[in-house]
Amino acid sequence: MSDRIASELDAVIVGAGFSGLYMLHHARDVLGLRARVYEAGDGVGGTWYWNRYPGARCDSESYYYSYSFSEELEQEWEWSSKYPEQPEILRYLNHVADRFDLRRDIQLGTRVTAAAWDDERARWQVSTDAGDTVMARYLISAVGCLSAANVPDIAGLDRFEGAWYHTGAWPHDGVDFSGQRVSLIGTGSTGIQATPVIAREADHLTVFQRTPNYSVPARNAPLTPEVAAEIKANYREIRRKARESFGGFPFDPSVRSALDHSEEERRAIYESLWEEGGFKFLYGSFFDIFFNEDANATAAEFIRERIRAIVEDPAVAEKLCPHDHPYGSKRPPIDTDYFETFNRDNVTLVDLRETPIEEITARGIRTTTEHHDVDVIVFATGFDAMTGSLLKIDIRGRGGLSLRDKWAAGPRSYLGLQVAGFPNLFTITGPGSPSVLSNMPVSIEQHVEWIGQCIAHLREHGVSSIEATEDAEDAWVDHVAEVASMTLFQKASSWYLGANIPGKTRVFMPYVGGVFPYRQRCDDVAAKGYEGFSLTS
Ligand SMILES: Cc1cc2nc3c(=O)[nH]c(=O)nc-3n(C[C@H](O)[C@H](O)[C@H](O)COP(=O)(O)OP(=O)(O)OC[C@H]3O[C@@H](n4cnc5c(N)ncnc54)[C@H](O)[C@@H]3O)c2cc1C
Repeated sequence: MSDRIASELDAVIVGAGFSGLYMLHHARDVLGLRARVYEAGDGVGGTWYWNRYPGARCDSESYYYSYSFSEELEQEWEWSSKYPEQPEILRYLNHVADRFDLRRDIQLGTRVTAAAWDDERARWQVSTDAGDTVMARYLISAVGCLSAANVPDIAGLDRFEGAWYHTGAWPHDGVDFSGQRVSLIGTGSTGIQATPVIAREADHLTVFQRTPNYSVPARNAPLTPEVAAEIKANYREIRRKARESFGGFPFDPSVRSALDHSEEERRAIYESLWEEGGFKFLYGSFFDIFFNEDANATAAEFIRERIRAIVEDPAVAEKLCPHDHPYGSKRPPIDTDYFETFNRDNVTLVDLRETPIEEITARGIRTTTEHHDVDVIVFATGFDAMTGSLLKIDIRGRGGLSLRDKWAAGPRSYLGLQVAGFPNLFTITGPGSPSVLSNMPVSIEQHVEWIGQCIAHLREHGVSSIEATEDAEDAWVDHVAEVASMTLFQKASSWYLGANIPGKTRVFMPYVGGVFPYRQRCDDVAAKGYEGFSLTS
């Protein structure tokens, strides 16, 4: 063993966002493990530490975009509004770190660079960019699905004389857009949140759009004391509903088919959900929106009608109308005045399908037809989702097997929790689990608690390692693909498929089978003595 091996731990947890914080609390305070978190950022919070762009906020409502594991925490924390801004969510996660005394076991500013399984000792040897090397029985990835920022490789960026930023690595002291000509590239959820806010601050904003997106109004509003009190009084039922739902949202599930209603009835339902705002439009309207193209087309057309009604210039409205993918098959954005922003005099839309970017120059962006002079470029171009951060770590399993090699043709896992050949490595919200298709705190808590229960079982039974079998993994990968093929998700070039990253193998990565059926499957596997895993004493 090298001299640099500083300590021996039960568990190393990588990442201090929603997942890593709860995993540390659970591992240390419930299971009694010696656990340490390594976090690349200089603060806790994960997504909410990094994404400080103007307009950043959650799209899940605050009362269910939060932890459920502590009733005291639930009761004492006051959310200001339905969709709080990033600083408030970051304050919440910092409060969690303080309240549960987590900081003493978190090493900030430290990136895990490599991890190798030592078969003889049945432990992981974990190395960091700070020079630490530690041995740990369990390696738990909490690296996040959306934490590896993707800056597109556009020729000439290095020559640009203005400033440029990626929304997922935003400067902590903010960016002053006043008097600036700003360009924003990307119209996913982030671009849609940022556009109205930047437009209000900047001298001029040019939005570069490749794919027009369906967006529904958020209808943000303060949480009145009455509403907050009612939520707090009903939290157990709210949490139960969320856990037992399809998407992790505490809504009554829709049992209606869009096709069983007359045009008039359907419109009334869509109109009322449009007025209410938020994810309910997708998750609470008609169940067959996800599966049936004709059902989906009714929602898609309704949204297009709304865009045409809001945007005054018909040519701009047409460019903003989504046309090449079903509604909900990409991450559904919700917005505050997104489409309205294109009625401002200081906002221009550039359709990259008509006029693609050729290069970035010293002074701006050149498309096939014109040069746009800009002072600032904002990349709202998302992430190398689901696998990006994990594969940045050089992870070597049994016999030196590299995770990068194993996943070269797309991620393979059993239940999104473990990978064959990588004993005692757990992946919170890993590919093959509902993760990004759900309200994530629900999926995160389910994974943390399942992993905790599994580790407790191993310790009770003197088991030194657990590993998914190849057969179980193959069957699960096939199942994930089969379920996805029954939905409309396959019809979009989305980051769910890795389509935003050049060269990434296109495989549908999250599990579409639903949060509750998935939970039942995981519980069933555990109840059957960890069926599909091999346990070694
Ligand atoms: C702008 C934005 C808005 C979102 N809104 C919603 C929403 O409304 N509802 C919802 O359900 N989800 C939303 N999400 C998804 C969000 O990522 C999850 O809800 C949740 O925050 C994920 O928590 P996490 O701890 O799993 O990952 P993260 O919060 O991403 O944390 C992972 C942490 O791991 C660290 N890390 C990664 N690799 C290493 C390494 N090698 N070494 C050390 N540290 C490392 C990162 O620095 C990061 O801090 C949103 C995401 C974004 C980007």
